[in-house]
Order: sequence, then C-alpha cells, then structure tokens
Amino acid sequence: MKPAPFAYARAGSLEEAIALLGARSESRLLAGGQSLLATLNMRLSAPRTLIDINGIAGLDRITRNGATIEIGALVRHAQAARSPDIAEFAPLIARAIPHIAHPAIRNRGTIGGSIAFADPAAELPACLLALDGEVAITGASGTRAVKADAFFKGLYETALGPQDILTGIRVPAASAQSRVGFDEFAMRRGDYAMVGLAATARTDGRNLADVRFAFFGVGQTPVRAKKAEAALANGKLDDAVSALATDLDPPDDIQATSKVKRHLAGVLLRRVARQLMEVTA
Ligand SMILES: Cc1cc2nc3c(=O)[nH]c(=O)nc-3n(C[C@H](O)[C@H](O)[C@H](O)COP(=O)(O)OP(=O)(O)OC[C@H]3O[C@@H](n4cnc5c(N)ncnc54)[C@H](O)[C@@H]3O)c2cc1C
Repeated sequence: MKPAPFAYARAGSLEEAIALLGARSESRLLAGGQSLLATLNMRLSAPRTLIDINGIAGLDRITRNGATIEIGALVRHAQAARSPDIAEFAPLIARAIPHIAHPAIRNRGTIGGSIAFADPAAELPACLLALDGEVAITGASGTRAVKADAFFKGLYETALGPQDILTGIRVPAASAQSRVGFDEFAMRRGDYAMVGLAATARTDGRNLADVRFAFFGVGQTPVRAKKAEAALANGKLDDAVSALATDLDPPDDIQATSKVKRHLAGVLLRRVARQLMEVTA
C-alpha cells in the first residue's frame, strides 16, 4: 500500500519545529522514519504534514556531564552501538541495541524515535526505565525533564504533548559498582521481543542492591517487577521468580499466550540475575 498524501516540511531548528507543530494541524515529527513510514504505508496513520527534524543541529550528540550520559534524540541506533562512551558508561544500552531490528534499520532509526514511539515490546524504553533515566523535552512553553517512570503512560502513549519534541535521554553513568543485565526471547533475531528484560543493580562485590527489573513485551508499557527486585536484593532468586506471578500480568498476544510469557519471564530473570552477579574486571 501507499501512504495517504501528506505535506512535507523540514525544520532547521527546535523553535521552527515547535512553530510548525503549532501551525499545522495533524502533523507528525519525522526522525528515522523506520516506524512512522510503516504506519503511513499501512494507513494506520495519515498525518497531513510530516515535519522532518533531521536537520536540527546538536541532537545527534552523545555527551557525558559528570555522572550523567545524555544521548541526543537523533543519535542513530548504529551510532550508539559504535560509541565508546555508551560502551563504558551506558553498558545496558550497548547490550540492548544489537537486539533492535537489523543493521539497515539501526542505521536510520533514532534513540529519540524509539523512546517517543514507545512500542511496549521495544528494548530502549525498558532500558530507560531500568536505568531510572529521564527524557528531555522541549515544547512551546520551554524545556522539562520527565522521569521514565512517568513518561510511559499507556499503549504507545507517553508524556509528550502535541507540540513537544523529545530532545534526548539522560541516564546515570555506570560506575565500578554498577551491574547490568539484558536478554530477550524473540521469534527470530531482530524481531520485536516476545518477552524481554533489562536490569540494573549496584554491588559491593558480594550483595546486590537497588535492583531494577524492566520487562518488555508483557504489557502496555515496560513493566517494573518490584517484588522480584526486592527478593533478588535479599539474595532469594527462587522467590524473585515466584514473585513474577504477582508482578506481571501479561496479556495473550499474537506471539504467545500469557502463560508462555510468564514462563519465559522467569527463565529470563534467572539468566539476567546471573549477569548481574557476574564479577567484572
Ligand atoms: C522491520 C522492523 C523491525 C523493527 N524491530 C525493532 C525491534 O526489534 N526493536 C525496536 O525497539 N524497534 C524495532 N523497530 C523500530 C525501530 O527501532 C525504529 O527506529 C524506532 O522505533 C523509531 O525510530 P525512528 O527514528 O525511525 O522514528 P520515526 O519512525 O521517525 O518516528 C516514530 C514516532 O516517534 C515520533 N518521534 C520521532 N522522533 C521524535 C522526537 N525526537 N520527539 C518526539 N516525537 C518523535 C514520530 O513522530 C513518530 O510518531 C523495527 C522497525 C522495523 C521497520
């Protein structure tokens, strides 16, 4: 199928993009286009105007400010995968990116597009939640930051308003005490996950603390598993797996039944717990 007709506007600055969003009704931002164009071609959406933000300078940077790593909205997945700063200071994101789609899609798809699109089976929203990161937003009334816990509101629904632009994400820079874990089950490598898990923790070398589990593919948004987190922080792996019965309530979907998803979530938890407890050099 072909998309419904649309107008195209290229924004040269954030101000221009915000003005265009205000002036043109039913407009949509275009970043990497890897999700948006598919929805247009399938006529799942029919915006009147696409506002291309690829020409906005400064949104394609990865910067470290003290204890925080900021990843600009227009950083491509492939660019993040090559970044030594991401490898060292955001290792959870480095582990997750190879699971996102395929090289051609990772060459165009952006970090900002992935977070803004908020697919419940996507890797990066779950990483942002596990890392207790935040989203930087610029809109008509200025800039603001929204924590991941508050950003993902429902199925493909976020805290972004109609004139908002996601300018980047910020995550705490990993330290020697940080531990991360990531794994997922997908039908084929590169497919959206049936079930996945992104996790973070701190360790003193013996015990884990501040465990955060963010499951994806199990609900309308990435889902924290708080009882399981507490159990693992107490050193009780079996209890953590059992706690998923109350932490998660995955719906049946075209990939798997709820029962299968629950089982896979337990398998992932055991695998990821092992990663969190690995001693790193
Ligand atoms: C075959 C295929 C397989 C895929 N598999 C996976 C996968 O396994 N895991 C995964 O996570 N993703 C997957 N994707 C999606 C891919 O990761 C996309 O890159 C990503 O979801 C969207 O990024 P984008 O830059 O292409 O955004 P676009 O497609 O340009 O935009 C997506 C949406 O976000 C909005 N948007 C984009 N940027 C901003 C911004 N800065 N501020 C506000 N709103 C914005 C757009 O208006 C649009 O509504 C797959 C895509 C395809 C085509």
